[in-house]
Amino acid sequence: TEDRITEGERQVTDDDAALRPKRLSDFVGQRSVKDNLSVFVEAAKKRGEAMDHVLFFGPPGLGKTTLAQIVANELGVGFRATSGPVIAKAGDLAALLTSLEPHDVLFIDEIHRLTPAVEEILYPAMEDYHLDLIIGEGPAARSVKIDLPRFTLVGATTRSGLLTKPLLDRFGIPLRLDFYEPKDLARIVTRGAEKLGTPITEDGAAEIAKRSRGTPRVTGRLLRRVRDVASVEGEGRIDREMAAKALARLDVDSIGLDGLDRRYLSTIMENFGGGPVGVETIAASLSEGRDAIEDVIEPFLLQQGLIQRTPRGRMVTERAYQHLGLTPPRRNPE
Ligand code: ADP
Repeated sequence: TEDRITEGERQVTDDDAALRPKRLSDFVGQRSVKDNLSVFVEAAKKRGEAMDHVLFFGPPGLGKTTLAQIVANELGVGFRATSGPVIAKAGDLAALLTSLEPHDVLFIDEIHRLTPAVEEILYPAMEDYHLDLIIGEGPAARSVKIDLPRFTLVGATTRSGLLTKPLLDRFGIPLRLDFYEPKDLARIVTRGAEKLGTPITEDGAAEIAKRSRGTPRVTGRLLRRVRDVASVEGEGRIDREMAAKALARLDVDSIGLDGLDRRYLSTIMENFGGGPVGVETIAASLSEGRDAIEDVIEPFLLQQGLIQRTPRGRMVTERAYQHLGLTPPRRNPE
């Protein structure tokens, strides 16, 4: 899925950094998440304590990393970032934890991918701010306890259900991020265009927003591509027509689906009679990983009411047939 224009996966560029909001007040949308965070930030500051540990969960590209940085900014503390797959050994995490300053924010992306041995280190660190390390091997092995500064762990994952129960239980503040409303995405487009120095009309911004798959990272990527087309083929100004033309060329359709989204739907329709069909079977038919299907493709299709999850597998809905301009098969009533 590397080349998908609508792909939510990380790919940080300088423009990305320029578009990233730095304060809670600049962060568009996600009202209840922001309200919650601002209360916890204020309370922690008032008491002069480290803030409780936060878990952000939701599809890629919705702003989990951005919010983690914002939390550190708002608290006025240091920010360290790493990710689950990068921490290979318990010692790597121990080194990171012992290097923190009091009240720092430690961000662990893809926290569900920590190995069990590394996770074990995290429990006492999160709970009582200490490490239990085993030094040496065999009969000579002994355990040492190392005190840590009080810190805030911010974890990010695509689904909270991917975490083990003991890890999940140690987050005082679990917060779910949802896909963004078109009007919020339009504000993100307008602000982004301002920062990039690109003039844009209101309907131009709305057109990009509508096709952003509910995801700010996609918004940023589409905006940059449309800006390129506008500067080469127009006078640099983005209006509705320019946006629609550029986006159609990128194979992003009127509701933001790209080629892979449509291939997912048409595979279920054409090869499996509209479903139900298991996710492994779909993954094999599309030559995609199961994770990419479940974390990136399906959440938006579900949110749009184009597919349903049933105990027997995925089914496409009538709306999906309508969207692709196809006739649904007659189904026997169950
Ligand atoms: P995640 O960690 O959930 O995958 P990121 O925090 O990396 O997502 O955000 C992806 C991109 O989208 C970043 O470039 C960020 O600047 C932008 N972004 C995310 N949320 C917002 C928002 N609410 N307002 C403006 N830009 C946002």
